[in-house]
Amino acid sequence: MIQKSILEALQKIVGPPHLLTQKEDMLTYSYDAAVLDPVMPAAAVIPETKDQVGDIIALCAENQIPITVRGSGTNLSGGTIPYSSGIVLLTGRMNKIIEINEADMYAVVEPGVVTATLAAEVEKRGLFYPPDPGSMAVSTIGGNVAENAGGLRGLKYGVTKDYVMGLRFFDSQGNYIKTGSRTVKCATGYNITGLMVGSEGTLGILDQVILKLIPAPKARQAMVAVYDTIEQASETVAGIISARIVPATLEILDNFTIRAVEDFSKAGLPKDAAALLLIEVDGHPAVVTEEAEQVKALCLKMGARTIDQAKDDAQRDKIWAARRAALSALAQLKPTLVLEDATVPRSRIPDMVRALQDIAKKYRIDIGTFGHAGDGNLHPTILTDRRNKEEFYRVEQAIEEIFDVALSMGGTLSGEHGTGIAKAPFLEKEAGYSSILFSRQLRAALDPSNILNPGKITGV
Ligand SMILES: Cc1cc2nc3c(=O)[nH]c(=O)nc-3n(C[C@H](O)[C@H](O)[C@H](O)COP(=O)(O)OP(=O)(O)OC[C@H]3O[C@@H](n4cnc5c(N)ncnc54)[C@H](O)[C@@H]3O)c2cc1C
Repeated sequence: MIQKSILEALQKIVGPPHLLTQKEDMLTYSYDAAVLDPVMPAAAVIPETKDQVGDIIALCAENQIPITVRGSGTNLSGGTIPYSSGIVLLTGRMNKIIEINEADMYAVVEPGVVTATLAAEVEKRGLFYPPDPGSMAVSTIGGNVAENAGGLRGLKYGVTKDYVMGLRFFDSQGNYIKTGSRTVKCATGYNITGLMVGSEGTLGILDQVILKLIPAPKARQAMVAVYDTIEQASETVAGIISARIVPATLEILDNFTIRAVEDFSKAGLPKDAAALLLIEVDGHPAVVTEEAEQVKALCLKMGARTIDQAKDDAQRDKIWAARRAALSALAQLKPTLVLEDATVPRSRIPDMVRALQDIAKKYRIDIGTFGHAGDGNLHPTILTDRRNKEEFYRVEQAIEEIFDVALSMGGTLSGEHGTGIAKAPFLEKEAGYSSILFSRQLRAALDPSNILNPGKITGV
């Protein structure tokens, strides 16, 4: 519950239509894409301007009211599950592209800009914003920065952190902080920009993001390699990387996922294949032709039954639309879908694929595997029913074993989905207690009243 006088003050800041307190609205903001218990917030506010955000934070700081920022709520780690006594701050109205600078190749945007909208706007100008999470049609830049989101092009182009040049954000007291700049290089002060990327709304609330753009590749070639065993497909991934070829995208789909995607999207994928590799090379036309030939030869040498090239943009778009539909397609099969993103060094992808098969057998559960194989970032996706307590217990055991296996291979608990609430209990396995203590000290210093997205990352 929040006092009536505070709700009135919030309403005065944003205007009556932009303060929500109805139960139906609170239900909407009680969950995200992670499989966790929902929590209803006390209210939701929808500011439009920087001053409104500053005033909201100052009011909350004075009254020690927890704030959870929410972009589109697509995160998979519980990062937007609010506090019951707190508010949700929605960024949907802070959705302006402030500047696209073609000469200096950067963009300045508000946090609520949808990722695909920015990508399309810069593409019109012959520029390229590469980070492309599978959710880019709805995810926001603020959510991407706060999660350090990856995507299908991470292998060649990196992830969100590689494109954030600077930020403007509010701290827990409502002070406005500027960090980074519009220049390619910036060595002033601490690298606060780096600290904020991936901070999941726990260190500050983003108001503006300066993003690096690059020239759009002149040519690209998408290919689909079909395999009779998933081992051959995963060995090919390791083979492509060790042959020093760096495709823009190198994705794997196992048979379980292929069948789900094909039933869902009718993209013409071979349902009898044990695995597919979806590959795209891009760059200068001459290099693209050469690399595509090298990739084709390598796939065939490593056991691909066939490898087909997309003949035009329409075919290419169909391939990637099918891949982006993987999660939605799998989600239709059972009431609960748990998507993990433990990541291993790329050369260990074949070992990880084998380990996932063993874990599925051991715990008698269905795991569909797809993902950014070229980044070592598979998405083992467990289909279950959370209401079946006995089965869900086995699922939880399996998840913990997936984490342990990934760490034993020198990997990480999360390649791109963040820590949130879901992975907070496991963080010590990877980072050790000292690292958690350091993070808690940092957080306590920056947010002594613990009002910025409590409970995320550090567990408190
Ligand atoms: C179908 C599907 C496919 C996906 N594919 C990918 C993928 O390929 N790669 C990938 O990395 N992720 C993927 N995700 C996960 C998710 O889309 C990303 O984490 C994305 O970055 C979240 O964006 P959002 O706008 O939904 O943020 P939200 O979920 O609303 O928020 C995410 C976090 O950011 C914080 N936050 C949001 N805005 C701000 C702000 N202005 N200031 C401070 N903190 C803020 C929130 O508090 C929260 O902690 C996928 C999810 C789905 C459902």
